[in-house]
This record gives sequence, C-alpha cells and structure tokens, in this order.
Amino acid sequence: MKNEMTLAFDSISENEGFARVAVAAFATQLNPTLEEVADIRTAVSEAVTNAIIHGYPDGVHTVVIRAILSEETLELWVTDEGVGMEDVKQAMEPLYTSRPELERSGMGFMFMEAFMDQVEVQSAPGVGTTVYMKKKIGRGAAEQEG
Ligand code: ATP
Ligand code: MG
Repeated sequence: MKNEMTLAFDSISENEGFARVAVAAFATQLNPTLEEVADIRTAVSEAVTNAIIHGYPDGVHTVVIRAILSEETLELWVTDEGVGMEDVKQAMEPLYTSRPELERSGMGFMFMEAFMDQVEVQSAPGVGTTVYMKKKIGRGAAEQEG
C-alpha cells in the first residue's frame, strides 16, 4: 500500500526539529528499527537545515517535504525555491562548505549519503533545490540481511 504526505513550513530554524519528528512519525508505519529512525531523523535534519540556511539566506520562505511510503521503502523530497547551487558535484564533496564563517563543516551531504540508501540533488541557481532520498526500512531491510 502506498501512502503519501506533504508538509510545507516556514524556513525558520525552529522548524528543523518539527520536520525531523514529523517525518520520523510518518515513517513508523513501516516498523523501522530505532537505528533506522535515527538515520531518517539525521538525514531530514541535514536537508532541512540546508534549505533554511543555504537555500534561503535572506528572509523566511517555504520549505516543502514530500514523503512516500510504499511496501518497505521511504522516499523523501526536500525542496526549497531559494538561491540554488551552481555546482552540485562540488557542493556534495565531503567537507565542502560555502559558509565556513557560519562554522558549517560541510558534513551535511556526507550524513545524508551515509544514512540513506540513495541521495540525488537537483538544483539550479535562482530556481532552488530538491534533495531526493530513499531508504529501505524495517521488515524489508531485515529480510535482505536474511
Ligand atoms: P554542515 O551541514 O556540516 O553544517 P554545510 O551545510 O556547508 O555544513 P553540506 O550540508 O554538505 O555542508 O552542504 C554543502 C554545501 O552545499 C553548502 O555549504 C552550500 O553551499 C550548498 N547547499 C546545500 N544545500 C543547499 C540548498 N538547499 N541551497 C543552496 N545551497 C545548498
Ligand atoms: Mg548542511
């Protein structure tokens, strides 16, 4: 059975925690392990923080999360219509950050890739960014391990 939800919220840092909890709660329908829940929370947190800090450096705008559960898989799209990226490949390099002055460490995409099975980024300057992430959850992953 497929189940889909969309969440739209203001790009303020207080909503990072909200988004993380909301997606984790939605994903409980797949019976995730505690470790899987922690992985999802971290990945959502990194993607949403990026949308808030980098996507919308000026002013408050809307961040949208779309999530689809199907069988044993969680798919997520985290979208901002902000400044976008010139060079996605460079942005995703480990430890690359465009904002060292904010004490960012360039680990966000590393975490997303470590904790999710698949991460794809679509971005264009002046248009915005969508981070797509996919993870196999719960029973599916257990069966895979035998
Ligand atoms: P950290 O996540 O460790 O605090 P960081 O956010 O700089 O540091 P990443 O999350 O890996 O590191 O992101 C790398 C870079 O990609 C950012 O510095 C920024 O330049 C760019 N970036 C990421 N997400 C977005 C976005 N939604 N819009 C525009 N640029 C982005
Ligand atoms: Mg980041």
